[in-house]
Amino acid sequence: MESDIQSVLDLNPEQIETYFSEIGEPKFRGAQLWKGVYSAGYTDFTQFTVFPKSLRERLASDFSLRTFSLIDTTTSPVDETVKFLWQMTDGYKIESVIIYEGKRVTFCISSQIGCPLDCKFCATGKMGLLRNLTHAEIVEQVMQMKMRSKYPPTNIVFMGMGEPMLNYDSVMRAAEILSEPEGLAFSRKKITISTSGIIDGIQRMANEDRPFSLAISLNAPNQKTREAVMPIARKYRLKELMQAAKHYTKITKKRITFEYVLMDGINTRDADAQALIELTKGIPCRINIIPCNSDDPHYQPPSDAVIQHFDQLVNKNHRTITVRNRKGWEIQAACGQLYATNEKNKKATLYKTLKHVE
Ligand code: SF4
Repeated sequence: MESDIQSVLDLNPEQIETYFSEIGEPKFRGAQLWKGVYSAGYTDFTQFTVFPKSLRERLASDFSLRTFSLIDTTTSPVDETVKFLWQMTDGYKIESVIIYEGKRVTFCISSQIGCPLDCKFCATGKMGLLRNLTHAEIVEQVMQMKMRSKYPPTNIVFMGMGEPMLNYDSVMRAAEILSEPEGLAFSRKKITISTSGIIDGIQRMANEDRPFSLAISLNAPNQKTREAVMPIARKYRLKELMQAAKHYTKITKKRITFEYVLMDGINTRDADAQALIELTKGIPCRINIIPCNSDDPHYQPPSDAVIQHFDQLVNKNHRTITVRNRKGWEIQAACGQLYATNEKNKKATLYKTLKHVE
C-alpha cells in the first residue's frame, strides 16, 4: 500500500532548514537531522536523542526514514557479492547489489522499476518500464545497503535496473544528495552514471558540467550488431553516440568508461576487437570487458580462452582493460534476474498452494 508520508531522504539541507523554521525550531536542527540521517544512518526517529521527545514525535508524524523493505537477499558463496530485492510502498520490487573486490566495495543501484529499452541480453528489459524511481528511493538503496554492508561503499554505480538518463533529474538529485558534504560526503567522481547510449543525457551531463563519472554501455563495435542486441541503437546511432562521447571528454576533460559485454558468437571475433579499437581511437577512455551474464540461452558468455584472447587483442593497443571477474554469477547478478527468479518462485508457490487446495 502506498504511504502518504514524505521520506526525509526527499529533502535537501535547505528544505530541511525551511521545515524547521516553519515549525518554529532553530536553524541548527537541520544540521542535526541531516547528520543523524546520513552520518549515523538512523532508521527510527526515537534514535534522535539530541531532539526533545515532542520534536521526535512531530518528525515521526511528518516523515518516514525508510520506505521500502527487504524481501529477498542472496549471497554468492564464491565471492560474497550480495544481491538485495526490495519491496516498495506501492508493491513494486527493485534490486541493488554490493560487489566486494579487494578494497573496492561497489554499490550498484537501480534508477527505474523495469526498463523500457529491451536490451536483448537483459532480464530487466523484458519487464518493460513500470515506473521511475524517486530520488529518495534511489538514495534509500544506498542507505539500506550501508546498514547491511560489511564495509562502507567506495564506489556507487547506476548500473542496476533501468536507464538512468531516462530518469535524469531524479538520478542527478540523488547523486547530489549522496555527495552532500554534510551527509554521506561521497566522492562525486566515484559515482558513475552508466547509460546505454542516450545521447541527449550525455550532452546534458557535459553541458551542465556534472561532476560524476560517465560510463557508456557499448556492447558492439558496429551499428548492425548494436541494433540487434540494443534496440535503442536505432534511435541513437553508433556514429552519433561516439561523437557525443568525444564531445563529452573534450568539454569535461574526463575519461569515459566503455562497457563491452562479451556475448558468445555475437561480438567476440578478432574483427570485433579491431573495430572496437578503431571506434574508440582518440577518445580518452577505459574499456571494461564483461562476460555476459544472462538467463537467455541466446546470450551466453564465451569461453575463458576467448575472453582472454579478446582482452589481449584490445590490450595490445595500450587501452586500459578490466576484465571483471564473473562477480555474482552464481547469484544471478545481471540486472533483473533476482526479480525474475523471485516472481517465478512466487508463481511456483502459488501453484503448489492451489494444487494443495484442490
Ligand atoms: S541493460 Fe540496462 S538499459 Fe538495457 S534493458 Fe537492461 S536495464 Fe535497460
